Amino acid sequence: MSTSRAEEQIRADIVEAGRRLYARGYVASNDGNISVRLDDRRLITTPKGVSKGFMTPDMMVITDYSGKKVSGERDPSSELPMHLEIYRNRPDINAVVHAHPPLATGFAVAGIPLTRAVLAEVVTTLGSIPIAEYGTPSTSELPEAVRKYIKAHDGLLLANHGAVTCCKTVMSAYYKMETIEHFAKISLVARLLGREHLLSREEVERLQGLRGMYGIAAPAAICADPAEASGGQAACQVIEAPESPRERLVPDVPGVRALSGADGRAPSGDDEIRLTYRELTALIADAVRNLRE
Ligand SMILES: [Zn+2]
Repeated sequence: MSTSRAEEQIRADIVEAGRRLYARGYVASNDGNISVRLDDRRLITTPKGVSKGFMTPDMMVITDYSGKKVSGERDPSSELPMHLEIYRNRPDINAVVHAHPPLATGFAVAGIPLTRAVLAEVVTTLGSIPIAEYGTPSTSELPEAVRKYIKAHDGLLLANHGAVTCCKTVMSAYYKMETIEHFAKISLVARLLGREHLLSREEVERLQGLRGMYGIAAPAAICADPAEASGGQAACQVIEAPESPRERLVPDVPGVRALSGADGRAPSGDDEIRLTYRELTALIADAVRNLRE
């Protein structure tokens, strides 16, 4: 069967995205899968049981939007239903990338979403990256969990599993996966260092304004009130940001502050730490919030 030039390019892009996922350690063994819309009846996807780092263009599988194979020698991944759910909910996107990048997946395992206003580029492009609840792979639970968030987000963590991104092209969906993993790495380092200074709500709103100015496609606005996002399908993006630049949502970790103290001496268990009343209440509020998450 002859393939069009456009399809040839898509096959080559899927091979390249898979190679990069493997080279960066975002997938191991046969993990991960990629799909792209071919037209309004068919999509093309990676086959099951192959390393994404060593695919060839002829390996791909073409299915319809119910997941039924149309052509290809191999079978599609059992995670294809998650991709199908994303296409059903997002007529504006043409490609889906799913992988298990270790740092982002670590956050997904810890149950910590990447929703804090920390990096300006991430707020402007992806916005927030919530966690879709755990669903047994290859059952309908995973697509159902993804459905809750995918209308308002281009990137999600999947609880105890990995991450998924979607965009207009396969390479742009791949780059969103890179951004999520990079963001997870930076967030982890900041938290290990014990200090995470958040951007203010006002700055978040200013960054959201840049989306329009630079023509950055975002599936939904940042929620003015996080309560808007509760209920069925999220219609906006929850971003944690303090109301005023002086207010700190995430207090410094006292022990780490002592470590970087003037005398350079490591703290001992008997050392006294000083907290203002505001810092103490913020610390307790943060602990309670973490418990709830
Ligand atoms: Zn997976």
